Amino acid sequence: MMSTTEMMSTTTVQHPQTMTKHHPGIDRLTAFSAGSLPFNQALCISAHLQYCPQCRQAVKRLNQVGSELFSELPTVTVTDTLKERVMAQLDAPAAPELTEPQSAVDGRAENNAGSTAANSNVPRCLQKLIPNGLDALRWKRLSPSIYATKLCRDVDGSKVEMLRIKPGGQVAAHNHTGEEVTLVLQGSFSDSEGVYNQGDIIYRNKDDKHHRPLASQDAECICLTSVQAPIQFTGFFARLFNPFIRRSHYAS
Ligand SMILES: [Zn+2]
Repeated sequence: MMSTTEMMSTTTVQHPQTMTKHHPGIDRLTAFSAGSLPFNQALCISAHLQYCPQCRQAVKRLNQVGSELFSELPTVTVTDTLKERVMAQLDAPAAPELTEPQSAVDGRAENNAGSTAANSNVPRCLQKLIPNGLDALRWKRLSPSIYATKLCRDVDGSKVEMLRIKPGGQVAAHNHTGEEVTLVLQGSFSDSEGVYNQGDIIYRNKDDKHHRPLASQDAECICLTSVQAPIQFTGFFARLFNPFIRRSHYAS
């Protein structure tokens, strides 16, 4: 797993015309700082931090507090057996956090561990998953105006995807059966709750009914999204797709 420090050692991606207005709550930033968030959620927050100096500062302060608390912990004597078990676990190879990252499937990641000209507009924490830029991903057409591509799946089953919505394109109305985290990478979209620009992070869950994002008319909207469980379309015709959506979500 990428450490918080590694995720934060990023090149800041900024856009002069936009300011992030939608941020993770302090509870999520605290969990991010403590390294206790699932990978998919940490990835979205890490990408948000590259656009948001306010949250970067908050995480920096939380890291300092965490480190001070840790240094003040009293020393505890442990048994040799426990010590050996801990040391053995430290030496063991890390369990894979992700299954089937697209870059690995394509065999393109071997020589692309970092930034390239093609992916220079991709937040650094995503560059290993998108080594050759957004256009090189295998985009699947979901509708005339919406394309999606799966980046990876977290160990809890959450699916991390990229969504590409043409100017003025609208996602069909849907409900959520689990938490959905969306981060705007390019362009903007709106829904009944507001307008979301580059760097904004949006959380939706079971309480958010008939969610219907609409991309702005002036630019394509590209989002990183993590979906814990398949969404359920609510329109009559769109409902016909629900079995396919469920199958697609749980497919490896
Ligand atoms: Zn923020």
